[in-house]
Amino acid sequence: MNYHSLKFGGTSMGSAQNIKTVGSIIMQHPVEKKSVVVSAMSGITDILISMGKQATLGNFTGVQSLMEIVANKHYQTLEELVVSESIKTQGKAFIEKRLSELEEFLRAITIIKEISPRSHDAIVAVGEVLSAWLLALHLQDKNIDSEFVNLESILEVEEHTPQKIFFDLLNASLKNRIVPVVERGGIPIITGFFGRIPGGIVGAVGRGYSDFTAALVGYACSAEEIEIWTDVSGILSADPRIVPSAIEISELSFEEASELANYGAKVIHPQTIWPAVKNNILVRIKNTMRPNDVGTAITAEGKLCPYACKSVTAKKNITMLTLYSFEMQSHGFMAKVFEKFGQHQVSVDLIATSEASVSVTIDAGNAFLENLLQDLQTFCKVEKEDNKAILAIIGREMQYKTGVAGKMFAALGNAGVNIRLISQGAPEINISAVINEEDAPKAIKAVHEIFFDIIK
Ligand code: ADP
Ligand code: ASP
Ligand code: MG
Repeated sequence: MNYHSLKFGGTSMGSAQNIKTVGSIIMQHPVEKKSVVVSAMSGITDILISMGKQATLGNFTGVQSLMEIVANKHYQTLEELVVSESIKTQGKAFIEKRLSELEEFLRAITIIKEISPRSHDAIVAVGEVLSAWLLALHLQDKNIDSEFVNLESILEVEEHTPQKIFFDLLNASLKNRIVPVVERGGIPIITGFFGRIPGGIVGAVGRGYSDFTAALVGYACSAEEIEIWTDVSGILSADPRIVPSAIEISELSFEEASELANYGAKVIHPQTIWPAVKNNILVRIKNTMRPNDVGTAITAEGKLCPYACKSVTAKKNITMLTLYSFEMQSHGFMAKVFEKFGQHQVSVDLIATSEASVSVTIDAGNAFLENLLQDLQTFCKVEKEDNKAILAIIGREMQYKTGVAGKMFAALGNAGVNIRLISQGAPEINISAVINEEDAPKAIKAVHEIFFDIIK
């Protein structure tokens, strides 16, 4: 069947006015069979996470004042969004119940002063539960057959269930829950939060998880398209908050989009791509506030653009480790090193080697890093540098052009950015460099100017 999985982000759901715009996009959507995944209203997930922190500090007054902000925002939105008095009453009762349960839960945390990944999930989930509820009520108010679908407890598994098994089971549960609603002609309005993933959603998937949920829903229900509706008109040549003149990219390949997301472009969550690749589902990025803009299509093949690459991005919060050993020259050293990374579940981004050293980058704040370091120090000298960023240019165009790396590094040099490590993969869709985190904005600006201001 022709079926689309839509997702609306935090800004799109950020006010009654914006939710009304989301409602019109859904009502005017040309494809009959569709489901809708939503993020929490903008700013709400941050507040919920702060509430959890305040509770672990034993500060219940702090929890209550944040609760007031959350309550006011949702009550006010409901008031402006829904006309029918009976739907409004039903809406208020639901919000009241969820928020008073949350308050009791947080009160208990102020006593034990500890929060497990599962408890953290229970707090964060409230954001998407309330926003999905509001949108479902708005559509019902407009006489649209919509159904609120809460994925909070879609799947109960043992804490140590491997992720592969979790996702297989989740796929079956999503299909069972969502397809019947779509088949009877209803529109499921689905929480971007899904549980209960071992390690907790923020730990196991990370912030911005609703994009991934929409991709999982699209995969489970055999969608032809996953539509990510956000606050920009597609994937741009750089984050427009850093480079306001960034240009829209009409089409990218799965591989390019995945690289871009993994190297810090927040516009889509990095995990969004794998369900799309598995079923060859087109992913479209669209702007809720400018629905007529073309947006970006992410497809298996992608398309070449007239520039030397498609986008410049930076991933922050990087730690660089340099391992020195005279064993480097003997065989088996690398195997020993990377076996340790595997054992301690620390994943590596970039690698560069010399005769007597190997440097790698990892995400800062990895919970297992200390154990890994202790282990590595038993057979080599380790130097650790924090507050780094990986700057990357991404795009298959560089395969057909010469001097791309030269231009990139000259631009960085001219901007006074110190480069600590350089990497370019053999498939040539990405050139990356490790720099100091504080230099990231000026590095993005300088590299963008070199590659994208020429043709203008
Ligand atoms: P949502 O709440 O809809 O999920 P996000 O804030 O997570 O939206 O993602 C959209 C934001 O991603 C944009 O507002 C923009 O600042 C940022 N962004 C970073 N890099 C890029 C890029 N290359 N193209 C477009 N947007 C980008
Ligand atoms: N609301 C969640 C977050 O801010 C998930 C999302 O927006 O996709 O991380
Ligand atoms: Mg997002």
